Amino acid sequence: MYSESELTRVKYAIAIDKTTGELKDATEVQNGLKCNCVCWNCSEDMVAINSPQNKKIKHFRHFVKSNCKSNYESYIHWLSKEVFKSINKLKLPPISFREILRLNDPFIAMVEAVLRNSGLRLDKLYYDYIIQPAQYLQFEKYSFESQISDIENTIRTDIVLIFQNNEELLIEPFYTNRIDGKKLSKLQTLDRSVISIDLIEFTNKNHFAFSFDKFKSFIVDDVISKNWVHIRSSKIEKLKIKYLNLLKKNIQEKEPLKYLIRKLNKENHDLHLTVSEENTLLHEILERIEQLKHEIKVNKDKIDDLENQFYLR
Ligand SMILES: [Zn+2]
Repeated sequence: MYSESELTRVKYAIAIDKTTGELKDATEVQNGLKCNCVCWNCSEDMVAINSPQNKKIKHFRHFVKSNCKSNYESYIHWLSKEVFKSINKLKLPPISFREILRLNDPFIAMVEAVLRNSGLRLDKLYYDYIIQPAQYLQFEKYSFESQISDIENTIRTDIVLIFQNNEELLIEPFYTNRIDGKKLSKLQTLDRSVISIDLIEFTNKNHFAFSFDKFKSFIVDDVISKNWVHIRSSKIEKLKIKYLNLLKKNIQEKEPLKYLIRKLNKENHDLHLTVSEENTLLHEILERIEQLKHEIKVNKDKIDDLENQFYLR
């Protein structure tokens, strides 16, 4: 029997087939040791817990007490790299105006000036504007654990994707350890485009029970968990030009609307004047009516007085 501590050890959804080297889901192998699978990290035999009588969620665990140093974080990190061996495209998250701005970017003043000319203000709507929508990009090659360096800086990156035009994109999947400030500033100095993938949301939702295909489609298709950590300068410059052009085109397209608004405003101004003039007239008439009513009353008083005199005599 296995000890309690062993049973509560890390549960794996996926292990490696001993014979073929393929990745296997815990749901698709024979139960127990017959699964013929080994651990990704220590290469020891794994046991599949997947018999129909067992109510536990199907998973793999180590066969005997092992000294395996793998934990869930290193496992899911390894698995995310395995995905890149079997794909050739990745959906990249969208890029908004906000994302192409550097600290104290003079480009903001430039955009503000363009807007001001048309009586518009740079508000949230313009910051959130998507310059490049989320899109699938096909890559030619990948490499793992590459070193990228210049004279002063060296960083180790998890995954580098290389595209047809030889452009590179760095991919950093993370579980709990986000890219720290030091690495980020090096990435900025080395000026490489980097996307991080937050694996937490996927594992929170699926715990240890998921198929490799499900994890693969998360890595490929999901954009919510992907984030542009850095976008290289040459790309930023292109996006800035694109944004300015889009902005100008948009303003130009709205020009007829601006004339219409101006025309209606003028009309409303005139109508207000007329209302005001008519109001003055109305006021004068009402005053005149009041005056006439007063005269009527004075006359009536006189009549009453005279009639009283008439009857008393
Ligand atoms: Zn192991």
